[in-house]
Amino acid sequence: MPRILAIDIGGTRMRAGAFDGELLTQEVLATEVERGPEDVIKRLIQASQEVLRKVGWEKIDGIGMAVPGPLDRVKKTINSPPNMPGWDNIPIGEIFEEEFSAPAFIDNDANAAALGEAVYGAGKGASVVTYFTVSTGIGGGCVIKGHIFHGAGDNAAEFGHQKLDPFGPPCGCGGRGCLEALASGTAIAKKAKELLIHNPQSLLWQIVRGDIEKVSAKYVAQAASQGDALSLRVFQEAGFWLGLGIANIINLFNPKVVILGGGVINAGELILKPAREIAFQKAIPQLASIVEITPAQFGELPGLYGAGEVALQGLRGELDIL
Ligand SMILES: [Zn+2]
Repeated sequence: MPRILAIDIGGTRMRAGAFDGELLTQEVLATEVERGPEDVIKRLIQASQEVLRKVGWEKIDGIGMAVPGPLDRVKKTINSPPNMPGWDNIPIGEIFEEEFSAPAFIDNDANAAALGEAVYGAGKGASVVTYFTVSTGIGGGCVIKGHIFHGAGDNAAEFGHQKLDPFGPPCGCGGRGCLEALASGTAIAKKAKELLIHNPQSLLWQIVRGDIEKVSAKYVAQAASQGDALSLRVFQEAGFWLGLGIANIINLFNPKVVILGGGVINAGELILKPAREIAFQKAIPQLASIVEITPAQFGELPGLYGAGEVALQGLRGELDIL
């Protein structure tokens, strides 16, 4: 099996791992994007060297990288992701190729996570897998027979920007009522804040010690799990919209497995229960009857598994089968 250096760069954390079909070891560090690309990349290279030292690999066969979009897979560059200011046209692939003398293959973080879960995790063995990452925003990925469906311009599967309510809240994309504007961590926090102003008795006030700016999806989940009515309502609504978004994707792709990953899914049944109920209720019955809706298996690591698989497929010349 080829020896792969797998890299996952996120706005908050970044990871390096040794991968040969299994994740042998990994290092994780804070990205600290404000320190700029040069400093971040330098620390990531050091972490990568540490990983290779731990597994005793002096030489590697390939490098797989999961990075925030937008990106250019051919030029292997990162092109100004919204959560990484100053990262304009960074030739991340070339930098790693020179450093580690092996070919690099890059893809966006949501696609990589989808691939990692589809091939090795919760979607293992399934022919068509769709993946939602529900965190600050909502990303998506579609994996068909073990390969990422990229679309004509490399931007397929923007599940977070399906239009669910044309008169709904504004979205970061400039539109209104996208799934992301209704069910992401950011949307959950925003909705809770709006309701909180009129609910002085909500437990959420105590959890954030009276500071409304501290309200986050995580705290809303904490309050909801302790029975706070306002927070339960917020999750019920977010789950409804997520379920509707999932139903649309089931109707479009006829997946065997829909995998839900990202920080918001850590809220467990608070979001999964309403999302599942609505998805099964709204999807076409024949399609609903064969689909499984399940949380991601690898927690924070699907991107690293996916990056490893991207490199394996790149080395085999299989990246653009779809
Ligand atoms: Zn949008």
